[in-house]
Amino acid sequence: MTKIRDEHVRIPESDLEGVSVDTLAVRAGQIRTEQLEHSDAIFPTSSFVYGSAAQAAARFGGDEPGNIYSRFTNPTVQAFEARIAAMEGGERAVATASGMAAILSTCMALLQSGDHVVCSRGVFGTTNVLFQKYLARFGVETTFVGLTDLDGWAAAIRPETRMLFLETPSNPLCEVADLEALAELSHRNDALFVVDNCFCTPVLQRPFELGADIVIHSATKYLDGQGRCVGGVVVGSDKLMEEVYGFLRSAGPTLSPFNAWVFLKGLETLPIRMRAHCANALELARWLEQHPSVGKVFYAGLETHPQHELAARQQKGFGGVVSFQVKGEREAAWRVIDATQIISITANLGDVKTTITHPATTTHGRLSPEDKERAGITENLIRVSVGLEDIDDLKADLSRGLDALGQ
Ligand SMILES: *Cc1c(COP(=O)(O)O)cnc(C)c1O
Repeated sequence: MTKIRDEHVRIPESDLEGVSVDTLAVRAGQIRTEQLEHSDAIFPTSSFVYGSAAQAAARFGGDEPGNIYSRFTNPTVQAFEARIAAMEGGERAVATASGMAAILSTCMALLQSGDHVVCSRGVFGTTNVLFQKYLARFGVETTFVGLTDLDGWAAAIRPETRMLFLETPSNPLCEVADLEALAELSHRNDALFVVDNCFCTPVLQRPFELGADIVIHSATKYLDGQGRCVGGVVVGSDKLMEEVYGFLRSAGPTLSPFNAWVFLKGLETLPIRMRAHCANALELARWLEQHPSVGKVFYAGLETHPQHELAARQQKGFGGVVSFQVKGEREAAWRVIDATQIISITANLGDVKTTITHPATTTHGRLSPEDKERAGITENLIRVSVGLEDIDDLKADLSRGLDALGQ
């Protein structure tokens, strides 16, 4: 008899066959110890012990499955991985210390010197830096193209192109990429199609159903949704994820069990939160559109949005991020931001608390004036990540500055 009991009761996957993403968000991947706890257990431990020297040898030799060290595997992290893999409809997920670690690990595991990447121009600023500054140093070149410019994507492809990478909807202008068309283009050219699904989450968009090979998340945003932890995850086939896992195990940017536990709790309310974010965002976008101090409003849920129909087909909701131009310049935008009393002035997004940002001087401040212009990051642009406060209170908070502009 072994001295230590370390098997856990995993709730059988077969019990969850055919259930909806809402049920998976609450139930998938849970392990239960012999204590039969109802909530998810947390295992804050760096390493694991063995019942005997022979068992240790079997674990290390790979003859016996089980945990060795939390840089390799940890039960809480595995529960989070199993849940998000089920929700995305991917074979396997690998959790990482941050969203950036997820992107880095994917690239390090699946690209090599001489490879070429095509990436959408509007990606998260740090993603841009990672490709342009760091991956370039290791011989991976990246060409940036307009997210919605299908001809541009096709024209950028070279014989050595190994990956197409994008985010949709884009930040901050809410442009929407045609995932099916770009998956087809990727596969015709033997390139991996990688989608950063951070803005939609699997509740609103399931890129594997449209041909993606890999789905990436910053769990820091909606998956947690309550601003507590930094983390990330990569999802894909067993074959591809084995490579990503191998890199992670060797390089070390793994997710901590505590953060994984927080994300498990976050996922339980993700479906209901996403629907509430979408409802609030749509109402705010409609209200902004008719406000006399507001110019253009960028939100794919508006019928006036150029990719509205594509978004309606591809997504189950239009997401929680709304951007708009105020009438005036930087000074006017800053006045609206500074007049808010409830909304948080912060660059973070995907939170139950509404946040407001001036992209031109914060998230996109590093871009050159030409790049800003090309990306549509004007001085009068404001981005709001719409949270779950009462929508009338949010309108009132934005009205403080907006109403004053007209005077
Ligand atoms: C925040 C973000 C990231 C980076 O995630 P971190 O968890 O901050 O490392 C990547 N992609 C998108 C779309 C993001 O919003």
